[in-house]
Amino acid sequence: MSTRQKIVFCDFDGTITVSDNIVAIMKHFDPPGWEAIVKRLVEERAISVRHAVGEMFRLLPSSRQQEVIQFAISNAVIREGFSDFVAYCKQNGIKLLVTSGGIDFFVYPLLESFDIPREHIYCNGSSFEGETIEILWPHACDEHCGADCGMCKTSIIRSYPADDYERILIGDSVTDFQGAKLVENVYARSHLIELCEELKLSYVPFETFHDIIRDLEATIQA
Ligand SMILES: [Mg+2]
Ligand SMILES: [Zn+2]
Repeated sequence: MSTRQKIVFCDFDGTITVSDNIVAIMKHFDPPGWEAIVKRLVEERAISVRHAVGEMFRLLPSSRQQEVIQFAISNAVIREGFSDFVAYCKQNGIKLLVTSGGIDFFVYPLLESFDIPREHIYCNGSSFEGETIEILWPHACDEHCGADCGMCKTSIIRSYPADDYERILIGDSVTDFQGAKLVENVYARSHLIELCEELKLSYVPFETFHDIIRDLEATIQA
């Protein structure tokens, strides 16, 4: 029997929300050049997440701040079961951290109605002071990570050592690749499934947060 505290590192875009909010913003405002940046990140894996996200937002003028924020918030849909999952974690003494490669101006407002302390939410920042939107990186990679993540999940995960914590990552895509290699348990959907298959990492697939609750219940009872 493990007495280690369970801790969850939960991705935001495409995980807590049904689709990726950054991609949705880019598709909607469609600034010339964004698709080439995504291709270089996702298909060619030629640039880092930080580089790609920073470059994409630089394609949007700061003058469109309100439109961009409004669109992101009204467009996002929260994945089924998330509020039950937040409650489940609380009831079972599981520490829930939201570790998001998303941006503060949509992550915080979209999580506002859930019972998650702000200091448990990690995401990137933003500035609308310059000509174009500038993404800020308050949680950049530490000296152990060379992946140039932007919001570095592995730096956060490493601060919860495996000796003391049973670490659970929930995610869907590129921003979860590095963290998935590090933790004891992975719940995956979409691209993250492909990566786990490729690297032969064990994972549990999920579509809703009820799937994850069911699996956690089963492991507790096993
Ligand atoms: Mg994601
Ligand atoms: Zn990193």
